[in-house]
Amino acid sequence: MILTHCHLWPEGMTDREDDFGIPGRPEHLSKFADELGFEKAVGLAPFEVPEGRSTARISPDEDSSRWLADAIAEFDNIVGFASLDPSREDAPERVAAAKELGLVGVKVHPPIFRIVVDDPKLDPFYAAVDRAGLPLMFHTGYGSWAWPLEDYSVLRVERVAKRFPDLRIIVAHCGGAAFCRDVLALLQSNPLCCADLAMALRPDAGWYVPSDELRLIVNCVGADRLVYGVDYPWCSIESVERDIEIIDEWGLSDEDERMILHDNAAKLIQPLQRD
Ligand SMILES: [Zn+2]
Repeated sequence: MILTHCHLWPEGMTDREDDFGIPGRPEHLSKFADELGFEKAVGLAPFEVPEGRSTARISPDEDSSRWLADAIAEFDNIVGFASLDPSREDAPERVAAAKELGLVGVKVHPPIFRIVVDDPKLDPFYAAVDRAGLPLMFHTGYGSWAWPLEDYSVLRVERVAKRFPDLRIIVAHCGGAAFCRDVLALLQSNPLCCADLAMALRPDAGWYVPSDELRLIVNCVGADRLVYGVDYPWCSIESVERDIEIIDEWGLSDEDERMILHDNAAKLIQPLQRD
């Protein structure tokens, strides 16, 4: 099994130390994934934003891709995604640099970076991710950030998917209950798009998606389009075990369940060869 959507940052959640150390730090994630029987975890680089914009952050003066690559180097069960601000002038070069550092994907968080997802000014960045053969993950679903939902709606992500049809796009949180039907339409209309289940299986979370909706997605587009994820460190051993029970309760074939918990993520973290 592969544990995707895990946020890492230098300090971690220093107020929540547990048996594995401080949640949010690579050494903690490595043990957390191992304890739950996951062979690999996908760590997301911290956001380069000023204090107050996000918990999982690093100073904008630092290079978060380099920080992540160095921080996970000693853990052979963690691979990393860069977290890049697509509006920066050097964003395309930073995609290539992240790949060079061995990172295997790119995360974009529109309300934290305050971008309009389908702004044509961001196209050189998307083209660079496409060229690098890396998957591109967008935060989707509700958010309490000071940025309008409409600017990062699933349908704006869909415009990016149409402009870059070879790009593998992951929509995080499956859009939450509010936008899960938009996610269904996105997946039906764009074969290389998939959705992650981070927080989507937890009734207590703002991104909860009822199981009927998730089963509908599997029925309509297949189990090869959903990827298990957790939004670590905002999860626990118990919450992950419960997530897996819920997926079990869907009554999928072993093969479909393995796709969601392992195979789909295993494919995504393999960079595509481009000429
Ligand atoms: Zn997240």
